[in-house]
Amino acid sequence: MKKVVILTGAGISAESGVPTFRDSDGLWEGHDVMEVASPQGWAKNQELVLDFYNQRRRNIGTVQPNAAHIALAKLEEKFDVTVITQNIDNLHERGGSGNVLHLHGEITKVSSCDYPDLVYDIGTKDICVGDTCERGSQLRPFVVWFGEPVPKIEEAMEISAAADIFIVVGTSMAVYPAAGLIGYVPNEARKFVIDRVTPSIGHYPNLEVLEGKASEKVPMLVKQLLAEERG
Ligand code: NAD
Repeated sequence: MKKVVILTGAGISAESGVPTFRDSDGLWEGHDVMEVASPQGWAKNQELVLDFYNQRRRNIGTVQPNAAHIALAKLEEKFDVTVITQNIDNLHERGGSGNVLHLHGEITKVSSCDYPDLVYDIGTKDICVGDTCERGSQLRPFVVWFGEPVPKIEEAMEISAAADIFIVVGTSMAVYPAAGLIGYVPNEARKFVIDRVTPSIGHYPNLEVLEGKASEKVPMLVKQLLAEERG
C-alpha cells in the first residue's frame, strides 16, 4: 500500500467552527497568542491561560468534523495513511482517521507542570489553578506552546520521509518546526497543498496547489486519489 501523509493546520477545522488565529491578525479568540500560548504567558497569569483553554475545550464539545476531516479518513480504504496535525482539537479522530499524530498536543488532555510524563484525559472538563496531579503539582494544558520543544517532531520527520503522497491542508506554514516537514518528503513523492490562500512554501518537485475551501478541495482530491488507485 502506498503511504499517504497529511499535514493539517487550523484551516481544516475552521469550517467546523474552530477559529484559526492568523486569519484574525495574529489574535486567537481576541488574545495575543503569546499571552495564552507561551511559557511566559503561563508564568504571568495561569488563571487567564487555563480559562482560555477551558473555553477551547468546551467549544470542542459543541463542534463536529467537517467534510474535509471525513474525506481524509476514507483514504484508509486504499492507502496506508498518517495524519500529522498541528491542531489540538480531536476532529480528525472523530472524522474517522485511525492514525493521528498530534504535534502540538491535545486539548482534551492535561499534564503535570513538574512531571510532564503524567498526562490525563479530561475530555471537555475545566481545570483551574489549584488542580494538581497525583504528586501535587499544578496541572496545565497538554499543549506545546510557542517556544517549547516539539517532542514528536522526529517521528513526524521519519513519517514524512517515507511518504509516497504528501498532502498539506489549512496551514499558513508559518509555525516551525512543523512547516519544515515538507522538506523531508522525497523528491519523487506527489505533493498537494490545499488552502483558501496559497501559503508561501518554496519550490518542491511534483507539487500541486489546490486553492479553495478545505471542505470542497479535500473531498475532490480524495475522490481522485482513490479512483486512480482503484484503476
Ligand atoms: P494558521 O492559523 O496559522 O493558518 C491557518 C491557515 O488555514 C491559513 O493559511 C488560512 O488561509 C487557511 N484556512 C482558513 N480557513 C480555511 C478553509 N476553510 N479551508 C482551507 N484553508 C483555510 O494555522 P496553523 O498553520 O495551524 O498554525 C496555528 C497554530 O495554532 C498551530 O500550531 C495550532 O496548534 C494552533 N491552533 C490550533 C487550532 C485547532 O486545534 N483547531 C486552532 C487555532 C490555532
